[in-house]
Amino acid sequence: MLQDKNEQRTSISDLGEFGLIKHITKYFKIHNESTEKGVGDDAAVLNFENKQILVTTDLLIEGVHFDLSYVPLKHLGYKAVMVNLSDVYAMNGNATQITVSIAISNRFPLEAMEELYAGIQSACASYQVDLVGGDTTSSTTGLLLSITAIGEANAEDIVYRNGAKVDDLLVVSGDLGASYLGLQVLEREKEVFKVNPNSQPDLENYTYLVERQLKPEARKDIVELLKQLEVKPTSMIDISDGLSSEIIHLCKASEVGCNLYEEKIPLDPQMISACEEFEINSTMVALSGGEDYELLFTISQKDFLTIKGNTHLTVIGHMTDKNAGMNLVTRANQHVPLTAQGWNSFDKE
Ligand code: ADP
Ligand code: MG
Repeated sequence: MLQDKNEQRTSISDLGEFGLIKHITKYFKIHNESTEKGVGDDAAVLNFENKQILVTTDLLIEGVHFDLSYVPLKHLGYKAVMVNLSDVYAMNGNATQITVSIAISNRFPLEAMEELYAGIQSACASYQVDLVGGDTTSSTTGLLLSITAIGEANAEDIVYRNGAKVDDLLVVSGDLGASYLGLQVLEREKEVFKVNPNSQPDLENYTYLVERQLKPEARKDIVELLKQLEVKPTSMIDISDGLSSEIIHLCKASEVGCNLYEEKIPLDPQMISACEEFEINSTMVALSGGEDYELLFTISQKDFLTIKGNTHLTVIGHMTDKNAGMNLVTRANQHVPLTAQGWNSFDKE
């Protein structure tokens, strides 16, 4: 629905693979001392001296992970970088380099790749990350995009999923569920557009939701904030699949249970009114929606006063003995077991 019929279309085959790589990478700057050699040789050369190296990768496939009928390529590029940086920050590390590999069908003109790389470049500039390599190949159908992010951390600063202790507090950054609702809004507009191709999307009341879906921000600022506060989480994960499933990962890895308090889950007002409009339960969306890219972590009780009152952070629960299980404590004070899909047997209560 966002295609302009009159836009310029330059065939990629006119440029060739090397011409394309040169063209799309020319506006990237190097920000990190650890990058000795970026794009242009057989391999990148990185120098991290005494740091530990973090490596994480993601593969995104058109039609499975994204839908180009409502995701602009620039946003896709930006988000694909964020998804990877988020994993580096979830280790309490600093992201320093990425590689980007793409497979494209002949449906995509050069201008489409320019858009995609404009998004990637914007992400690299905002987060001070260097594009140091990748691969470019053809696909018979659609677009595939794989990004690898590299980061650094001092060994003693790295936070794993398995360090949570009984009585630690469970903390989340930002607010939850908005991205999922943004997707629902975009899907609805797509259906409207199918029936009436002249319709203009009406997104005015959903700007925050759509932004959270199309242009998420990885929480580098939270890693910096915790460093500044001298609070080292005991365990940490980023929220890609939904709060519930990430809590389960932390609990299982750390061999603890937890109580999550429904009334504490941070929700944006726009998210709450969209839940009313779509007639879905806001707690369910926060637990299972996913793609929030917020950080979920545990801290020891002694750090409570240090983070208390910080507007970016909300204490949503605490860790318990493993035998107590992983529970949502509802507003009615019922204990309901958490599942990867949200919660179990809620309506059976
Ligand atoms: P090779 O044939 O040795 O794999 P390539 O011709 O694929 O080398 O790549 C040349 C250079 O361009 C390398 O530095 C590579 O990492 C980089 N590169 C290739 N494709 C991309 C891409 N899509 N994005 C960024 N860098 C790329
Ligand atoms: Mg190659």
